[in-house]
Amino acid sequence: MHTTAQFSIDDLRAQLEGPVIGPDDSDYDTARAVMLRAIDHRPAAIVRPADAGEVSHVVSLARETGVELAVRAGGHSYAGHSTTEGGIVLDLRELTALEIDADRRVVRAAGGLTTGDVTTAAATHGLAVGFGDTPTVGIGGLTLGGGAGYLVRKHGLTIDHMLGAEVVTADGRVVDVDETHEPDLFWAIRGGGGNFGVVTRFDYRLHPVDTVTGGMLAIPATPETLAGLVEAADEAPDELSLIANVLGAAPPMPFLPQEAVGKPVILALLVHSGPVDEGEQAVAPLRALEPVADFVRVMPYGEMFTMQAPEAPPRVATNTFFSDSFDEDDARELLARMRASKALLAAAQIRVLGGAVSRIPDDATAYAHRQRRIIVNVAAIYASPADDDVHRAWADDAAAALRHGDDAAYVNFLGAEGAARVRAAYPGATWDRLADVKRRYDPGNVFRVNQNVPPRR
Ligand SMILES: Cc1cc2nc3c(=O)[nH]c(=O)nc-3n(C[C@H](O)[C@H](O)[C@H](O)COP(=O)(O)OP(=O)(O)OC[C@H]3O[C@@H](n4cnc5c(N)ncnc54)[C@H](O)[C@@H]3O)c2cc1C
Repeated sequence: MHTTAQFSIDDLRAQLEGPVIGPDDSDYDTARAVMLRAIDHRPAAIVRPADAGEVSHVVSLARETGVELAVRAGGHSYAGHSTTEGGIVLDLRELTALEIDADRRVVRAAGGLTTGDVTTAAATHGLAVGFGDTPTVGIGGLTLGGGAGYLVRKHGLTIDHMLGAEVVTADGRVVDVDETHEPDLFWAIRGGGGNFGVVTRFDYRLHPVDTVTGGMLAIPATPETLAGLVEAADEAPDELSLIANVLGAAPPMPFLPQEAVGKPVILALLVHSGPVDEGEQAVAPLRALEPVADFVRVMPYGEMFTMQAPEAPPRVATNTFFSDSFDEDDARELLARMRASKALLAAAQIRVLGGAVSRIPDDATAYAHRQRRIIVNVAAIYASPADDDVHRAWADDAAAALRHGDDAAYVNFLGAEGAARVRAAYPGATWDRLADVKRRYDPGNVFRVNQNVPPRR
């Protein structure tokens, strides 16, 4: 009999059709693993509900017993919010129903799917939802925080595609939400993260996105090329979205010439979603920065999600901030910080926003940083827990030097950085409204393993 102080695994097994995995099971270690290998929690149980009714059962158990509940979709939380020490992981991975209505351009996608699953299925119809840049990320976490990727300037954030959702609330109800049904809840789940319920189904508007000009340019990183790239991406038409990954010292990669190895490099991933001739024109200013490898070509959009299989880092210290510009002085500072890092790899990611994101009013959804033009993430990848403090300090100092006193952050890129940083993700009235909605839908803070917005008292 497997019994914790608060619940019995055997009872749960008898009550649910979906698998319930406990510490004595042979697949426990595989089931509890999350994307960040350094996060090594041991939950009392990992429960994989078969449907929204079973999600409701587990949510009610957590509410009634007080056991800590972590909701897991793709397991890619930087903050470790996909799991819990000693509590229940509500693992959505059995929820994989996917219905595409190509004529109406609508997809209904269950909360356990990945962005790669939905992108691949929609691509067979020449359609897409704008997600992020990595196929293994869950639609759950990515969408609930906002969602910015290769179509962000053309079609907006992932939440801007949302037509509605099925949500299991803290009181165990299963509700359909949209602009007219439970509109405050619908507002809050578009940017407010997992604070308000478990989303068991997302309904998205699909956009026609078939052949694109996309791929990667590898460009030696100097203050001039880095600032030049950001400026060119900012001035590009909305059809072009770009994510620049900057590596402080390029490891040997098959496509890099020998003389580029060990030196700073920008791996610029981009998509131009529009006519091919316009794509060529839009990419020309980026090609003028003299890439040493050029993999940009005309391709089906879905291929952007099959291009990379990023290896999970052993340990990573990150920091994130918004900026409205990134000039040569910023680029010089970033590259100097990377040179000074003692990490296995010091890296940064620069995402240029604007376009469709900024044409939606700040208060339309809980993602309120719509006028911010650039997201910068810095990351130190390293091996030993003994070096945690050194690399955390590096990431924090590098971000502090570049953010020019501005604390604003995109919630999906935050680590476990404390309440003030969560607050910085939700400026002014957005925070107050979220705290009100939280009080109405989750007064006991059942959903607290997340970038938490406590209920307004
Ligand atoms: C390699 C990598 C690449 C990334 N690329 C991008 C990118 O291009 N664009 C971008 O915007 N972000 C990106 N992110 C950030 C990503 O959006 C967040 O880490 C996101 O939270 C991950 O979602 P998940 O479902 O995979 O993770 P999980 O850890 O499973 O979930 C993250 C959080 O969301 C909650 N949650 C998840 N699903 C649900 C649900 N259905 N109902 C209620 N709560 C839920 C969880 O409880 C947890 O608090 C990336 C992250 C990584 C690690």
